[in-house]
Amino acid sequence: MTAEGRKYSWGHSRRFNSYPEFFKKKFGGRVQKLTLDAGFTCPNRDGSKGKGGCTFCNNNAFNPSYCQPSRSISSQIARGIEFHRKRYRRTQHYLAYFQAYSNTYESIDVLKERYEEALQQDEVIGLVIGTRPDTVNPEILDYIKTLADDYYVVIEYGIESCYNNTLKRVNRGHTFEDSLRAIDMTASREIRQGAHFILGLPGESAADIMAEMKIISGLPINNIKFHQLQIVRNTIMAKQYLSDPEDFKIFDLDEYLELMLQIMEQLNPDFVVERIAGESNPKYLLSKSWGLRYDQVLEKFENMLEKADIWQGKRYKQG
Ligand code: SF4
Repeated sequence: MTAEGRKYSWGHSRRFNSYPEFFKKKFGGRVQKLTLDAGFTCPNRDGSKGKGGCTFCNNNAFNPSYCQPSRSISSQIARGIEFHRKRYRRTQHYLAYFQAYSNTYESIDVLKERYEEALQQDEVIGLVIGTRPDTVNPEILDYIKTLADDYYVVIEYGIESCYNNTLKRVNRGHTFEDSLRAIDMTASREIRQGAHFILGLPGESAADIMAEMKIISGLPINNIKFHQLQIVRNTIMAKQYLSDPEDFKIFDLDEYLELMLQIMEQLNPDFVVERIAGESNPKYLLSKSWGLRYDQVLEKFENMLEKADIWQGKRYKQG
């Protein structure tokens, strides 16, 4: 079957259900996420679950320069808009992306103050709330639901793996069952939700990752993000990597995209794919960088999809 001129179930001709097209359809144009650091912490750092954090975590590797917790939410948003306007003049809509640490890990009053300050900014049309699955509860989700009734709101859960052995090994401090509970509570309130997975975590083979795709495709989520494992400086994993590099499988670009082809074929076509790979600042990277920007990685991947005549969900079988 050729895909020339073909539209897939997601309504356009790209071979996967891509995030920018989803927004174009929903809001009629480009939507930019503004990364925020609301000054929260995480239970895996403040001692309530653990102290060292996940072995791969160094939040500095993702935070852009405009995003500093010493600044108010509105100031971070204003600076973020200024930063992005220089690059993308056509962007009219912004989402406040509460990304750093666990953004539901606070009292409901503090969460209200931070989220609502973001929503009061004129150009902000909604929220993306990045968090751990073990830091939501019915009270927080009921409140987020009230926002989701009026704005575009998505909760982005760091699930990272479906395997408890892996979660233990990277000191995640929660189980896959915790993730399932959070996902079910969120789905039952009809709040949009995304899931983040890291591919190549220690102990997981390509076969393990493909087996995981069947589980992932059956989850009641809306958006999905995949990152390849990268070893980031100043993390516990960096120390482990330096003392035993053979214990880690770091994908090179071609190998990773070959795996991603297989993943795409199995992936639930209803999921909006936000990312297929991560892009850490090379100055933070200990493992070798691929040397390409994300848009270049994506272009290469889309050429591979075309050549192999693969599209998202080509071999997906429901439940
Ligand atoms: S990755 Fe998230 S959950 Fe893990 S230590 Fe870092 S902030 Fe906490």
